[in-house]
Amino acid sequence: MWNTGISGQELKTNIPLVLAHRGASGYLPEHTLAAVALAHGQGADFIEQDVILSSDNQPVVLHDLTLDATTNVHDLFPGRNRKNGKYYAIDFTLAELKKLSVHERSKSSGSIAKYPLRFPRKSVLFKIISLQEEIELIQGMNKSTGRNVGLFVELKAPEWHRQQGKDLTAVVMKILERFGYKTVEDRIYVQSFSAKELKRLRLEFQTKLKLVQLIGENRWRLSEADFKQLRTVEGLAEIATYAEGIGPWIEHIVGTDGFFADPELTSLVSDAHSLGMKVFPYTIRADALPGFSSSFAELLEIMFMQAKVDGVFTDFPDQVRAFLQHRY
Ligand code: CA
Repeated sequence: MWNTGISGQELKTNIPLVLAHRGASGYLPEHTLAAVALAHGQGADFIEQDVILSSDNQPVVLHDLTLDATTNVHDLFPGRNRKNGKYYAIDFTLAELKKLSVHERSKSSGSIAKYPLRFPRKSVLFKIISLQEEIELIQGMNKSTGRNVGLFVELKAPEWHRQQGKDLTAVVMKILERFGYKTVEDRIYVQSFSAKELKRLRLEFQTKLKLVQLIGENRWRLSEADFKQLRTVEGLAEIATYAEGIGPWIEHIVGTDGFFADPELTSLVSDAHSLGMKVFPYTIRADALPGFSSSFAELLEIMFMQAKVDGVFTDFPDQVRAFLQHRY
């Protein structure tokens, strides 16, 4: 990018991060060992884990609280659903969860693939994995490749877990510590949509790990946090008291002020940067582009070269890595 006498190695310190969203989930079913290994091989800097608890308090890597969209739970455990018809992972032991096959994500109703161009939905090759298994794989591949790929752990619905009588954060933090993640220098971020839980991590757990406040839309009902307020300068200043970064929705970074208007950057990234925080938007998908971009290359151009984000969550780590290698 710069035409200076600085060596390539020095220039490379400012390259934004590739965060593999649920592993290389554009190519293999999300949160499976295969998707994690592929993400590692494709050059991700960090690999993301969504973590929830089983009935016997084991942390498992699953995005949804329910098993319906990504497993064959209906076939194996008929009748183990709750009143709303859904099968909750927290109602099953880890041993039971291990009996399930994980498949490519379905649309919420029925057996139609959410992303039709991805891995065939009917496959029974894959299993649910525990957080410990995923860390073992990443650390093992770090050893065998000499790279240092990090974890990006999301505490999923901590308030909901508490209502179910479980302390997700306590379980996860104990495991992270056991695997050697203890200081701000360690190759890990802990993320959550819950501002309350991130503050609890700082104050009650006194964690030194880097934290990221995820920011959604209030209508998604993801936590008690007021996301609209958190995106203001005052809200961001509050986040900066307990977190090193934010994880906003890509639509929070690019707004359009009319149906045919050109996309315009919001001040979110620069506001967060001026408070010393990193910005890691979600989710960059080659097969599901946001309305404001007409191609994957354009989307990456807007995110990295215009908005200047510090990294992106992506289902396609190889394609983002290729873009960054070309541009930096
Ligand atoms: Ca996540």
